[in-house]
Amino acid sequence: MTADRTVSSTGDLTLAGSESPPVSVTDTADVFLRAESVAGDVHVTDAEYVFTHQTLGQSAEPPDPRTRIQGDEDAYAEPGGVGGDLTLSNVADVFVPVDAADGTLSVLGSENVYSASAPDLDPGACDVVSHGWQQRTRASDPDTGVYVTGAGHDVTVDRVRTDVDVYVVGWGHEIHLDGRGGEVSVHFCGYDNSVSVGPYLGSTVESDAGFGNAVDEEPFPVEDLVEQSKREACETAGFGRHKVVYQEPATDEEWCGNCGEPADAIVERHQMEAFFLFSYPVWVYERSTNPATECEHCSPNAHDATLTSEERRKVLQ
Ligand SMILES: [Zn+2]
Repeated sequence: MTADRTVSSTGDLTLAGSESPPVSVTDTADVFLRAESVAGDVHVTDAEYVFTHQTLGQSAEPPDPRTRIQGDEDAYAEPGGVGGDLTLSNVADVFVPVDAADGTLSVLGSENVYSASAPDLDPGACDVVSHGWQQRTRASDPDTGVYVTGAGHDVTVDRVRTDVDVYVVGWGHEIHLDGRGGEVSVHFCGYDNSVSVGPYLGSTVESDAGFGNAVDEEPFPVEDLVEQSKREACETAGFGRHKVVYQEPATDEEWCGNCGEPADAIVERHQMEAFFLFSYPVWVYERSTNPATECEHCSPNAHDATLTSEERRKVLQ
């Protein structure tokens, strides 16, 4: 096979549209394609692992390349990066996100292929984007979502206030989202990635083309459900006979006695009638024996998604 142009690349290789197709890339470590990066077919031979959100098909024999690139480290194909067919051989792992190639993805002789059906998302619409090796990204107020490509990214997104997608392509990424009132839909294409979301966000794994990927939700803070602690209630009682109402965390409950849901945060609503001296209950006449419970799913205190617990206490005062 002869090519019009043969290049030896050292370090990371980026395909950005300047090479005449068909393009052949050999001998790299990982190959990361981005959405809409290849205008033709992608032929993969003898990769170690292939992770793909694009359907596998059978295409014709790989074409004779016009550009042959012998790589060294990793290879990245940017959007519009290859104007025709791309052939990858003798490479380590290949990551193929949704809509990476206009043509067919065919894989020959790879040891392991992890595939999942195309996720329902448009990576091009994501507004927090990073790609490359060990990127560190900080962002806030996302409108649509997070899209990372490569390895070892550390991404933190604050003030998520709407439903967002998180599209994780590659390996070793750590992504954390914090905010209120949004649902986070996570899609993995790769391995050993972790996504964590703060206690006021929901999350689901929509697709996982890979292994060792995990989503972690921080538990709902039980203090948010406590309107008034026992100590605060006693302080307001001051002196004399009073009935006080307070909430305490239920320490060993895993299910809410009120709504029946499994819950992170459960509080018991207590009543106590006592004689107080300097805010200390010196004589208890009566106390509730079977306190009502509520949790983050059924407590009215949990549902105001726009306020923090401190803000809410100020409103109640
Ligand atoms: Zn409940």
